[in-house]
Amino acid sequence: MTRLLIKQAHLLVHDNELKLQDVLISEGKIVEIADEITTPATRTIEAQGALLTPGLVDVHVHFREPGFAYKETVATGSQAAARGGFTTVLAMPNLDPVPATPAAFTQIKANNEANGRVHIYQYAAISEGLTSADVSDMETLAADGAIAFTNDGKGVQTAATMLTAMQAAAKVKRPLVAHVEDESLVNGGVMNLGKRSKELGLPGIDPLSESSQLARDLVIAKATGVHYHVAHISTKESVDLVRFAKSQGVQVTAEVSPHHLLLDETDITGDNAYFKMNPPLRTPTDRQAVIAGLLDGTIDMVATDHAPHSLAEKQRSFIGAAFGITGIETSFQLMYTHFVKSGIATLEQLLQWMVVQPRVAFNLPGQSELTVGAPADLALFDIAHAHTITADEFLSKGVNTPFIGATVYGQTVLTLVNGQVAYEA
Ligand SMILES: [Zn+2]
Repeated sequence: MTRLLIKQAHLLVHDNELKLQDVLISEGKIVEIADEITTPATRTIEAQGALLTPGLVDVHVHFREPGFAYKETVATGSQAAARGGFTTVLAMPNLDPVPATPAAFTQIKANNEANGRVHIYQYAAISEGLTSADVSDMETLAADGAIAFTNDGKGVQTAATMLTAMQAAAKVKRPLVAHVEDESLVNGGVMNLGKRSKELGLPGIDPLSESSQLARDLVIAKATGVHYHVAHISTKESVDLVRFAKSQGVQVTAEVSPHHLLLDETDITGDNAYFKMNPPLRTPTDRQAVIAGLLDGTIDMVATDHAPHSLAEKQRSFIGAAFGITGIETSFQLMYTHFVKSGIATLEQLLQWMVVQPRVAFNLPGQSELTVGAPADLALFDIAHAHTITADEFLSKGVNTPFIGATVYGQTVLTLVNGQVAYEA
């Protein structure tokens, strides 16, 4: 029997207290946690006070396969996830083919299982091509293992389609995840419509494109009783709408990305497409609102929207470059550094946002706590030493991120999935 022993790791025990512990892993599970474990092990890892947490969960990643393997594959995306400390991810369906049919879905799911280094749950699409008015066969897709339904990358443009989709998702008890964007208010924009877009002379996306469609969806969600999840929330109006909807008993959850928490349009240094994403970086007021929403529980979780692209697609002007940034290898470090180390939030809160709430909202198997008997899906982070993010360290094929050059704490030392090493520094 192989046994892995992690010596002297800091574990979060209670009331945000860290305690040095030894953790013994065998047969894919945690079998002992104690001040000192002397049981002989096949391998011993000296954690030297690094932080041991349950593996992180990201409900919003783009692994690009099939269809766009030049941007990312399931293999590279999941290696990047493991390097970020993630052991479970939910993969978006803007692929080719789109998993809107059971045949495409089961093929994509099988590829995830064959090539994934971490647990990958696959979203199915709300509709064919992410644009059709015909809602997919959710009953069969749910039976085939679809974790939830979304047309991420595109907003659902008509209320009638959204109503049918929410009714179908409610029936099969799966969340309906929305990328909210009314295309009639996009106006060919490449960044947020406002002061900065005018200064840079770039076309702007009206922020009402997000909040107006969200308002519509929340009303339909209330009428259908579906669990409605808002992807990458980014404006103050959206946060206010979700807060109100929660107060009215709407079953709504929301995620925010690290970049919308840490950057705003004033950080856009010039015509640099590494700052181009959808939704775009908003105003400082919006940024403060998403932070406040996360801290008061209106926003439930942090999700990366990991969106790798090729260099050719990003190293060009804002106009013409692809939307999206790579994020799964930097999110924990950025969040730890700017929220926990800076004192805005506690480590316990961060783990709520990056482990517990994603698991609860999407009803994922596994455990969110380090306890004896739990599956050994774990991550070990060096929180003592500063690190500067560089483009050449990524395991993702995508290096498109404005956080290159940032100094952070919390580099991943080790990630275990079912007790097996998925990443080791
Ligand atoms: Zn999206």
